[in-house]
Amino acid sequence: MAISLKTQKMLWGRAAGRCSKCRKDLYEDETETDDPTLVGENCHIVAESDDGPRANPEMPPERRNSYGNLILLCRNDHRIIDTQPGEYTIERLHQMKADHEAWVRQNLGLDEAKQHDDEQYSAIVDEWEKLAHLASWTAWSSHVLGGDHPAMWKGLDEDLYALRDRLLTRVWPGRYPDLENAFRNFRFVLQDFQETFREQAESRGGDETLMTRRFYKIDEWNPERYRRLLQQYEYHVALVSDLMLELTRAANLICDRVRQNLKRSYRLHEGRLAVESGPYEDLSFKKWVVQYSQEERQKAIPYPGLESFLTERAKRDRSFGDGPVADAL
Ligand SMILES: [Zn+2]
Repeated sequence: MAISLKTQKMLWGRAAGRCSKCRKDLYEDETETDDPTLVGENCHIVAESDDGPRANPEMPPERRNSYGNLILLCRNDHRIIDTQPGEYTIERLHQMKADHEAWVRQNLGLDEAKQHDDEQYSAIVDEWEKLAHLASWTAWSSHVLGGDHPAMWKGLDEDLYALRDRLLTRVWPGRYPDLENAFRNFRFVLQDFQETFREQAESRGGDETLMTRRFYKIDEWNPERYRRLLQQYEYHVALVSDLMLELTRAANLICDRVRQNLKRSYRLHEGRLAVESGPYEDLSFKKWVVQYSQEERQKAIPYPGLESFLTERAKRDRSFGDGPVADAL
């Protein structure tokens, strides 16, 4: 289980980004120019694994990655502390952490209000990651973009709906307007994406999956009506796909704003969110990263609303469809 952004923010903020033992300034991530020994490490007081330093198999796994069980250290001190568990006991590490945090408050003038806001924003990011299933974004979006038949697991659809509600009713700290706007933008796209998808979605596979209804399949022999419905169907699928791409742009924008405001190294290892579509006729899949252009980012809310998006989508970096209505035959 990963350490949540909120926990990292608490740990780094309250320690002022300094090693709790030697008090040297630490880097969040390794770069070519930084001294690699001064990369900050989230050290476990009770080991994360059952056989690590100061292990306690009785401790539930979720508590091992909680703020109360972590201490910020430089790489050198982390190594020293983990190789001398007899010297650096659980009690001693808790004391070291408390002393360091007290030292920060007394000597560095910790901005408590900012720290509080940062922790609140981080909790929102953690919840967003969970409900939007960020860890499996490429996989779940590939079912939406898969061929000509958008589909979604029902539990995911419910989580996305819950996320809309959470983002709408949140009390925002008001400290980082560009980050808040990125969330607002995401919520607007999500609402239109989900409502458009749901318009033609029906339960399948023992109610586990929502699939797009092939509404062009009619019982009568009426080629003209069939063609018209097929065209409407294809228009609908292209629109759902374009909204999925827009949602991915909106999610990438949030990640950028988190890096700018909260944590420089946020999701640097995972990289940008990508989508995958296919299989195409040659059975290949295509993977894309979609993002707002510099110009689109200048707007507080890059998503223009569904009505304008119908035509504006053709100007984005990728699009499947164009125009406000399916062409009349
Ligand atoms: Zn140190």
